[in-house]
Amino acid sequence: MATPCSSFELLATCGGARSGVLTLPHGQVQTPAFMPVGTRGTVRGLMPGELGDAGADIVLANTYHLWDLVGHERIESFGGLHQFMGWDGPILTDSGGYQVFSFKGYVKVSEEGVRFASPRTGDRQFLSPELAVEIQETLGVDIAMAFDECIEWPADRDRVARSTERTTRWLHRCLAARRRPESTALFGIVQGGMEADLRVAHAQELRELDLDGYAIGGLSVGEGHDAMLEMVEVAAPELPANKARYLMGVGHPRDIVENVLRGVDMFDCVIPTRSGRHAWAFTSEGRRNLRNARYRDDRLPLDPACDCAGCRQFTRGYLRHLLKNDEPLGKRLVTLHNLTYYLNLMRRLREAIRAEDPVALEALRVEAHVASDPAKD
Ligand SMILES: [Zn+2]
Repeated sequence: MATPCSSFELLATCGGARSGVLTLPHGQVQTPAFMPVGTRGTVRGLMPGELGDAGADIVLANTYHLWDLVGHERIESFGGLHQFMGWDGPILTDSGGYQVFSFKGYVKVSEEGVRFASPRTGDRQFLSPELAVEIQETLGVDIAMAFDECIEWPADRDRVARSTERTTRWLHRCLAARRRPESTALFGIVQGGMEADLRVAHAQELRELDLDGYAIGGLSVGEGHDAMLEMVEVAAPELPANKARYLMGVGHPRDIVENVLRGVDMFDCVIPTRSGRHAWAFTSEGRRNLRNARYRDDRLPLDPACDCAGCRQFTRGYLRHLLKNDEPLGKRLVTLHNLTYYLNLMRRLREAIRAEDPVALEALRVEAHVASDPAKD
């Protein structure tokens, strides 16, 4: 059952796109929203204040890594994850499931949970729906994600069906394991692989549970842009209009805009931050790799349309020099720029939807496709 610590108010729609406000214990999230990924309780290289200034309302942290590297009880003793990482806005954690299923080597799944070898120490570890909820509640996050089974792609229909049923059973165990529903919301995850009817059925089943919010999981796993959109297109309309919808792990600017047009409210992805560390910048003119020799004498800002610190103060030629020579400032500036680009894109999407302006929305869709492809100049 939905708990009072979270509520979603739908403010406007434009075609299939939605804009609203998600209210959580540590503040409000304007949607559509992008959540920067702070895997280890830090968005690598950035100060929490810089995330807020760039327009982030909420950040994502990773349950498995915080549990494995620090311990949830130790973080609780620091006053919880918000205090520990110095971010006082909303935090969402993944359940840890996605990580442990992706580990190479020993991973054994049973109805009870998942046994696996820590990639760091080789020690055997075990994660279950109950423990995933306990860790996230102890961290004190605003939104905990249900522990679901993540399977490989491609997978045959029978395997997808069995795994989706297990995800539902695990969701019920997550709900029963909650001890702090007044301070941590719980989102369920719609699975169903690339099988449209299984996606629809699972979304309907979860809808009946009246959860705090709904995620669409198991996408962006190699299926391609069109297959992903097709799955969102069938699942999203089955979810309740008065609850937030979160598409996990997506994506490039084009994926985000196309899914906003299909009714998704929340996104997270490592792409802007990870690409930033590898010198790839998303700009309104296309994607640029700043290590490229062509930027050596380039006196323009990285993106003339951007107001981030890097674009206001430095040239492409200087950024290339920093990145080429592995200076930490270079990675930091491109990471900050990419997040600024993403978060500005979300703000412009919200403005277009709230103004119910389909022309502005279409212009953003076109721009997001350009931003996702290599720059043509
Ligand atoms: Zn910038």
